[in-house]
Amino acid sequence: MEKELVKYAIEAAKNSYSPYSNFRVGAALLTESNKLYLGCNIENGAYGPSNCAERTAFFKAISDGEKRFKAIAIVGGKDGNFTDECFPCGVCRQVMAEFCDKDFKIILGNKNLEYKVYTFGELLPHSFELGE
Ligand SMILES: [Zn+2]
Repeated sequence: MEKELVKYAIEAAKNSYSPYSNFRVGAALLTESNKLYLGCNIENGAYGPSNCAERTAFFKAISDGEKRFKAIAIVGGKDGNFTDECFPCGVCRQVMAEFCDKDFKIILGNKNLEYKVYTFGELLPHSFELGE
C-alpha cells in the first residue's frame, strides 16, 4: 500500500505548478473509505496565495465530503528530483490535526520508491486543539 501511494504521489507531482521555486511536490491521500485524492503544489506570483500539495489533496477530499483519512504519501524535490524526504510544512500539519488521528500514516517517498513511514503523532505532538 505504501509503495503504491508513493507512485501516485510521483504522478501527482507532474501537475505541480511551481515556476518560482522549481520545487515540485506531489501528495496522494487515502481516505478511510479507500478513495484516493491527489494533490500538487500550486504557486502564485504573489507568493502568499500558493498552496501545498498536501493541502490541495486534503481540500479536494474534504470538499467531496470525506472527513476520515488513513494515510498520505508525499514526494518533493527541486526540478522534480525526489531524492530526500519531503516533510509536510507546519501549516499542512495543522490541517492534518483537524482531520487525522495520531496514528495517521505519513509516508515520505523518493524517486526509487523507497519510503519511510511516520505517524502524525510523531510529526506534530502537542498540536493545537480548541478542546471539547
Ligand atoms: Zn504545507
